[in-house]
Amino acid sequence: MCDKPVEGRGGVAVTPSGLKYYLDTPAGHQAAKADMQASMGPGSAEGTAPAPPQAQPSPPEGCENYEDSMWDKPCSKYFKFSQMKYKPVANPDANLSVTQIACNWQKICQNVLDPLIDAGFKITISSGYRTPAFDRSLGAKNTIGDHPCGRATDLQILGQGDPSEKAKDLFKYIGKNNVGPFSQLIYEGRWVHVALGGNSPAGVSVLVARTGAAPYQQVGGRAGPSLPPDLKWA
Ligand SMILES: [Zn+2]
Repeated sequence: MCDKPVEGRGGVAVTPSGLKYYLDTPAGHQAAKADMQASMGPGSAEGTAPAPPQAQPSPPEGCENYEDSMWDKPCSKYFKFSQMKYKPVANPDANLSVTQIACNWQKICQNVLDPLIDAGFKITISSGYRTPAFDRSLGAKNTIGDHPCGRATDLQILGQGDPSEKAKDLFKYIGKNNVGPFSQLIYEGRWVHVALGGNSPAGVSVLVARTGAAPYQQVGGRAGPSLPPDLKWA
């Protein structure tokens, strides 16, 4: 008999309910990178993504009691904390505690991901929360970006069909309906990056980077007035 979760092999672990996550170790970082490469393709590290100027601490709200025993528990209608894919650790660069990061994740699940499920999108979280160590291993120079603050996630619609076309539908739906409302929305080709409560300046909150890497094309603020024709939602 062995009912303990599998933990540690190759840097990958599985929660009792069967959700896969990564350990914050070099092996865990390698495993996450390999999975991101496989589903997102080139540019998956987003190493050159513009970081917000400064992340502000957000007071925990409604999840002040976050503790490790909640890792495999629901944080929203459809999602669990463990879908962050890394257990939250404090982020000194951004002055955020474990609880604040868990709360940020809960908010993005409640305000962005749940509404997308309700709208019928079969989303896959390709990269959710990134620990500071993992973020650095992807090339980040500081860890004040939205992923290491628990405020951003990369979403894909996998399965049959061209992932880039399905990402366009998702991007346009989020933009048109102002889902969240998001603080940043990026069409990155095979996936969509969406942030909630981050510090993206209003003028650059919607961006296009078709291969998930620089140059990031600014399309004129959160209404995206300068979007290319195939990404226009209005
Ligand atoms: Zn991203």
